[in-house]
Amino acid sequence: MKRQPAKMSMTETQEYEILIGLEIHCQLTSVPTKLFCSCSSDYREKAPNSVICPVCMGLPGTLPVLSRSAIEKGLMLALALECTPVTRLIFYRKNYFYPDLPKNYQITQYDKGGASPLAYNGTIKISDGHSIPITRINLEEDPGRLTYQGSIQTSPYALVDYNRAGVVLAEVVTAPELRTPKEARLALESVQAILEHLGSFESTLDGSIRCDANISLARGNRVEVKNITSFKDVARALTFEITRQRGLLSKGIPIKMETRHWDEKRRITVSLRVKEGEAEYRYFPDPDLLPIEISKTELSELKAAIPELPESRAKRFVLDFGINEETAKTLVRGKGLADLFEESSKEFKNYDKLAHLLSADLLGVLNRSEIDLNDTKITPKHILRILKLEADGVISGPAARDLVTQLVNTGDLPSHIAEEKTKITDKKLLEAEIHKAFMNAPQAVNDAKTNENAINYLLGIVMGLTKGRADPKETLTMIKKMLEKSRQ
Ligand SMILES: [Zn+2]
Repeated sequence: MKRQPAKMSMTETQEYEILIGLEIHCQLTSVPTKLFCSCSSDYREKAPNSVICPVCMGLPGTLPVLSRSAIEKGLMLALALECTPVTRLIFYRKNYFYPDLPKNYQITQYDKGGASPLAYNGTIKISDGHSIPITRINLEEDPGRLTYQGSIQTSPYALVDYNRAGVVLAEVVTAPELRTPKEARLALESVQAILEHLGSFESTLDGSIRCDANISLARGNRVEVKNITSFKDVARALTFEITRQRGLLSKGIPIKMETRHWDEKRRITVSLRVKEGEAEYRYFPDPDLLPIEISKTELSELKAAIPELPESRAKRFVLDFGINEETAKTLVRGKGLADLFEESSKEFKNYDKLAHLLSADLLGVLNRSEIDLNDTKITPKHILRILKLEADGVISGPAARDLVTQLVNTGDLPSHIAEEKTKITDKKLLEAEIHKAFMNAPQAVNDAKTNENAINYLLGIVMGLTKGRADPKETLTMIKKMLEKSRQ
C-alpha cells in the first residue's frame, strides 16, 4: 500500500511534503580489530592516538588486510534486515581531504557504475507499523575523531584522535521515505535492537550508532545534516531543519543543496559546505584489495547462525506469556528491556503485570527522563522486589510506580526495602509500632474511617518505622482491628 505523505502545516493554507532519508552508521563493536589492520577496536578510554599502526595511518608501503569477522557480521546484519547480499565484494577509495582522515581517502563501498555495496534492497520495520525501504548497506572505515572547544564554528582549534580511524562501520542507507522526525528515531531504534540481538553491537558504547539525515520539503533540494550522535538528537535536528526550511520557503526563498552540521550543544544546524557531487570524491576501486567472492554455502551458513531477532521474539512473547501483541512489540524495542522481561518472568508468573510494569511504567519514566535503559544499573532483582512488595500488599500500585522512578534516577532501591528481611510477626511488637503510627498521623486515623488510602498510608508509616520488616498482611489486619476498637 502506498503511504500518504506527511504534511507539516505552516499556516492553514500552506503545507509542505516532508521526505527524510537516513544514513545510519553502526560500529560493529564485536569485531575485535579495525577493518584493515590488527589494531584493537576497543579504542575508547585509551590515550589519544595510542591505538594506531602504520596501516590505519596510511603510511607509505603498508597494505590493508581485510577482517573476515567484519564481513561476516556485516552480512548477518544485511540478512537480518532482509537485504540481498552481493556475490562479489569490491572496496573503493573515496578521496577527500579532511583532518579526521589520515590517508586522505576512506576505504568504502560504492553502488554506482555497476559496482556493488555489501547488500541492497532491505527493510527497516519500525514500531509504528511502517516499513522503511533500505537502499543499500556498505562496509567502511570510521574516520578519526575531532574535538572542538565549544562550537565547531567558534573553536580556536580542533584536536584530532586517530584511535577510531579504521574501525568497522556498517552504513545502512534508507530510501527518502521517512515522513517525520519521530519515524527517523524509531528507525534508528529498530536497527539498534537488531544489532543488539545479533550480538554484533554494544549499545552502551558512546557514539557506536550515529547518523546523517537528508531532508527535503516539497520535493525541493535535499539538505544533508551530519554529526547526529544520539536517538534524541535525530528528532531534534530534523525538527529544527523542518522549521528552518519551512520558514525560508514561506518567504519564497529557495532551499540550497548543502551539508549542514548538527551543533548538539546549541541545538541548531549550521552550514558546513555546499554539497559535493559524486564526481568530487573520485571513487575508484582500491588497487590494494582484491574483489572477494561470497559463496552460497557461506551465505547459508551465516543465515543459519542468525539468532532470534526482535520481530520473532515479540511473536514468541505473545505465544509463551499470553501478553498482547502491542506490549510484546514495545518490550523488544530494545534488547535490554526484552531481557529484563524474560529474566524476571522466570520468577514472577503474573506476566501481564510484569509486562505492564516494564513496558508502561519503567519505559515511561525512562522516556520522560531521557535516560537509556542500558545506561542504568537496573536488574531483574530490582524489578522482582518491587513486584513482590506490591503482590504482598506491602506497597500500593502508585507506590510501586514511585519506586520505579526512584530506581531509574538513583540506580537502586531505598536500602530499607532493597532486601527481604526477617518479618516481624510478634503481635505485641506490631501493636506498639501501629500505636506510634497512629500518634504520628492523627489525621490519617480520622480519614481511615471513610478512606481506604489512609489505611495504606498508616501501613506505609509502620513499614517505615520497622524498616520494612513488619509483616504486611498481619499489620494490615491489626491496623483495621485497632481502628475499629478506637471507634467504639
Ligand atoms: Zn591500525
